[in-house]
Amino acid sequence: MEKKRIVIALGGNALGKTLPEQYLAVQETSRAIADLVEEGNEVIISHGNGPQVGMINNAMAAYSKTDPSHPAITPLSVCVAMSQAYIGYDLQNALKEELLNRKIKKNVATVITQVRVDEDDPAFAHPTKPIGYFMTKEEAAEAEKNGMHIVEDAGRGYRRAVASPKPKEIIEIETVKDLLEAGEIVIASGGGGIPVIRQGNHLKGVGAVIDKDHASCLLAQQLDADLLIILTAVEKIALHFGTPQETWLDEISVEEARRYCDEGHFAPGSMLPKVQAGIAFAASAPGRTALITLLEKARDGVNGKTGTRIS
Ligand code: ADP
Ligand code: MG
Repeated sequence: MEKKRIVIALGGNALGKTLPEQYLAVQETSRAIADLVEEGNEVIISHGNGPQVGMINNAMAAYSKTDPSHPAITPLSVCVAMSQAYIGYDLQNALKEELLNRKIKKNVATVITQVRVDEDDPAFAHPTKPIGYFMTKEEAAEAEKNGMHIVEDAGRGYRRAVASPKPKEIIEIETVKDLLEAGEIVIASGGGGIPVIRQGNHLKGVGAVIDKDHASCLLAQQLDADLLIILTAVEKIALHFGTPQETWLDEISVEEARRYCDEGHFAPGSMLPKVQAGIAFAASAPGRTALITLLEKARDGVNGKTGTRIS
């Protein structure tokens, strides 16, 4: 098998939603990743952080109520940084153990990763992504005074909504490359990366959440990867998903994938960003392929036995 450079984007099911769930989930995730390392591939891991960043955001808000000297709002960029460290710790710990069990001599490192976004990204004018705890009308009014954008979330109460701007540049990319050159396995750009804007030499954290599928696509492009694997809760993507006409897809071209997006086959909050990321990566240079499949099917997917490939 020829050696490939592979960026693996882990979805929610690879990490679980709570501390004990994550501790267990990363063990299975590590086995799937170690399979690819064992076959001689160079592996870079990125991951989502939805439940984790929500938990950290809520914990910091609760803490500020017990300690008035603590600011009421912890910047979301800081919450993303905390989630990268917490998830990176569990992953690098479990993956190193799995590699040792298989007698594979490789180090695993997590890089706290900032990702530059455009200050004038139109997403900032339309915060759409609800995050964190539910607020009463009064709490929502107070939060609005503190500069948060508040939305009513499906009759369940008020929540903070944040923008989801497009990732433009992985700030720590050279560090990731150096670690890869040294033969290390790297975990980077967790949770879509810490969103920052450039102000001269200063990088300023912003209150946004970058989609992890888009950020993984950019990471894969900047690393000149051969393969972007998006591991999620389905083995393949489908046309007419969840209907009697459901048709699972094996190999599709960029053109076909674009047409299926236009025809509305993929849900905007879940599968659409993955297919868009797959298209962007596959279209970015010759020889690049994106694969969407289940975590436990990663090895079969890389060997062409399952999953949906966009090339
Ligand atoms: P992740 O945490 O991996 O990002 P998401 O829940 O965001 O997972 O996205 C995966 C989900 O997308 C699947 O579990 C499935 O329910 C949903 N989905 C929506 N449209 C499709 C489709 N056309 N084909 C397959 N899955 C789809
Ligand atoms: Mg998702």
